[in-house]
Amino acid sequence: MDHYSKERTLVIIKPDGVQRSLIGEIIKRYEQSGLKAIAIKMILPSEDLIERHYSVDPDFKKKVGAKAIESYKTKGETPPSNDPEVVGDSVVKRLKNYMTCSPVVAMIWQGAHAVELVRKATGGTEPRTSDVGTIRGDYVLDSYSMADSDGRAIRNLIHASGNPEEAEKEIPLWFEDKEIMQYRLVQESILYDVNLDGLLE
Ligand code: GDP
Ligand code: MG
Repeated sequence: MDHYSKERTLVIIKPDGVQRSLIGEIIKRYEQSGLKAIAIKMILPSEDLIERHYSVDPDFKKKVGAKAIESYKTKGETPPSNDPEVVGDSVVKRLKNYMTCSPVVAMIWQGAHAVELVRKATGGTEPRTSDVGTIRGDYVLDSYSMADSDGRAIRNLIHASGNPEEAEKEIPLWFEDKEIMQYRLVQESILYDVNLDGLLE
C-alpha cells in the first residue's frame, strides 16, 4: 500500500461555485488543511464527460433514483415514477444541464486522508442541512425540496470523491497524466517526516 500521504481526491468547483466567486475561498479551505494541490484547471465539461463521471459507480442512477423516490414519499408527494432507474435518469439529466452551464474548476488534492478531509470540509450533499462551518453549509442555501419542485439539480457548489477507489476512477476522466504534478511541498516535512531532524541549526 502507498503511504497515507499519497491518497488523492478529485474536487470539482461546480458552475455555481465559479459564478458565486468562491474559487479562492474553496481552495483556501482545502489548502489550509495541509493537503497538496497536484492539478488545477478550468474547463467547460461536455455532457458526455458528466455522463461518464456519474457512471463511475454503475449503480449511481439506481441509488440516487431510489433516494429521490424515498424523499418524495417522506414529503407526502407522488414521485414522477416508482422505477429508481427512471428517476435516476432524470436526476442525471438535470445534473448534465447544471454541470455544463458554465466553466468549472477541476482539481486533485493529495495527502493523508484526502478523501475524508475534503468531504468533511465540504459538508453534506444538501446545503440546507449541511453543517455550519462547512463550505456548503456556510455559502449556499439550496434544498432537495426546492430543487425538486423547480425540476432542476441541487446546487451545492462542489463535487468531491466519495472514497479513494471512486477518486482513482474519476481522476482519469478529468486529467491526463501530464497535467498531474509530482512535487514535494516544504511543509510536508513537518506533516509527515518521522524524525523531524534537520530543522535546528
Ligand atoms: P455528493 O457526493 O455529496 O455530491 O452526493 P452524491 O454523490 O450522493 O450525489 C451526487 C449529486 O447527485 C449531488 O450533488 C446531487 O446533485 C444529486 N443528488 C444526490 N442525491 C440526490 C437526491 O436524493 N435527490 C436529488 N434530486 N438529487 C440528488
Ligand atoms: Mg458523490
